[in-house]
Amino acid sequence: MELFWHRRDLRVADNVGLAAATGTRDDGRGPAAPVFVFDPDVLDHASDVRVRRLLDGLAALRDDYRDRGSDLLVARGAPETVLPELAAALDAERVVWNRDYSGLARERDAGVRTALNDAGIDREVLHDAVLHTPESIRTNAGDPYSVYSYYWKKWTDRVADPPAPTPDAGDLVDAGDLTAAVGTDGGAETDGGAAIDRVAVGDLPAPADLGFAEPEADVGPAGTEAARDRLDDFLSEAVFSYDAERDYPAREATSRMSAFLKYGEIGVREAYEATKDAMAMAEEKTGERDEGGDHEDGDDEGPVAAVEEYQKQLAWREFYTQVLYHNPEVVTENYKEYEEGIAWRDDPDEIAAWKRGETGYPIVDAGMRQLREEAFMHNRVRMIVASFLTKDLLADWRHGYDYFRETLADHDTANDSGGWQWAASTGTDAQPYFRIFNPMTQGERYDPDAEYIKRYVPELRGLDADLIHEWHELSPTQRANAAPNYPAPIVDHSERREEALAMYKRARGED
Ligand code: FAD
Repeated sequence: MELFWHRRDLRVADNVGLAAATGTRDDGRGPAAPVFVFDPDVLDHASDVRVRRLLDGLAALRDDYRDRGSDLLVARGAPETVLPELAAALDAERVVWNRDYSGLARERDAGVRTALNDAGIDREVLHDAVLHTPESIRTNAGDPYSVYSYYWKKWTDRVADPPAPTPDAGDLVDAGDLTAAVGTDGGAETDGGAAIDRVAVGDLPAPADLGFAEPEADVGPAGTEAARDRLDDFLSEAVFSYDAERDYPAREATSRMSAFLKYGEIGVREAYEATKDAMAMAEEKTGERDEGGDHEDGDDEGPVAAVEEYQKQLAWREFYTQVLYHNPEVVTENYKEYEEGIAWRDDPDEIAAWKRGETGYPIVDAGMRQLREEAFMHNRVRMIVASFLTKDLLADWRHGYDYFRETLADHDTANDSGGWQWAASTGTDAQPYFRIFNPMTQGERYDPDAEYIKRYVPELRGLDADLIHEWHELSPTQRANAAPNYPAPIVDHSERREEALAMYKRARGED
């Protein structure tokens, strides 16, 4: 028997570590007993939203095991204590898990490795979370990439592994045997004693048991089946116009796969293979178009380019994973050094208005309210609100990162710090500091009918889109007549733009 430790891979299918532990590779291994450990150190960094989303994902995972005659062991305590004890109680030969590339996780895993060594228990650690490991894609000089476009070229040329085999009933420890090994009432007593705070078979805690509240936001569906349904749906149609539509938040033209990918409820190999099937369909469509005579060679629009654009987003996720892996400090430190440091303004009232979605810039407020309601925000709007916080409010990107970490269901250390540092011009990207989004023109361009804005900002629902996009230019009387409950802009974009430029110039030592 082997013990498989689930972390950010809440799925049975296309799970490299689980496939290894269950012996579906015909190497005489398995069966596997799956466990999830609620680690107090990880919970210290969690939020109401993410705990709810995690519990939903775990419930779906447990059901997938139950469908196969097994169950999910649910433990609480420090993994370096729980895992050796549990492995001993189950008489497991080995503990197996998939790598997590963030700095904190790597520290924790090192502790678990040492504890298992001390207990004389074997372990195996596999790569699963990305198609291409952070070590595997490097410049010709052997360095990690810091420029996405070059990284993407290598990423897309590499052959991806096929999905890992899915275990079935015979590969997993029977639910009855799990119960016999750890008992039914929680608090499994092992020879080692009380170090395992609690191990139960399939018994998930409520958020309150972990010290969290039910979030106000609807965190959306969870689990492999929901992930597959959503991806299938997206790849059957919307993907073929993804490049043209993805920037328009009202159109819901993106896949909404981020939380599924973050919790590992769908494997990246499976997801990527599905995009390759979509690519084959796109090529067929393009061929048909060619025969119709309206396609030119080198056309960078159309279904093939659209599917490729989607694959590029999956590569962004892996790019930021490798940035974090090679630079674990980017979660709290600027990637790009500024000689003099950036003198952020950090006005607490302005930051609070941004969080509440009451800045008086309609597209910014719509985004912040979408976040509050859905624990999600559209990518274009994430870029707009992040630019607004850093370059209009002149607030340190870490305030934004911390707030997103608390409120996003898909919060991912690598993508979130990557996105924030991109917006703040402190990251890997070549984006110069003087490229500053204008929140009004962004709103007008990407939400021309103000459909997205009206969806989330009820105070503006009765207004014509033109008036909404001119909100910053209206007089106080015009605003009071048009939407008395919606705030005036809290800052003047043109003035703040100049201040931001000066702030960055000083930071660069140019003043
Ligand atoms: P789609 O457009 O359908 O893209 C498919 C998948 O590709 C996404 O699910 C995601 O896994 C990946 N992806 C897409 N865009 C990016 C990107 N720019 N960087 C990295 N991966 C990407 N994404 C997160 O998953 N978690 C975060 O915490 C996060 N924080 C962000 C913070 C800021 C300030 C910004 C600007 C972006 C952030 N992103 C984050 C990236 C992006 O906004 C989301 O991945 C995307 O909006 C999720 O929606 P989707 O699944 O419909 O994306």
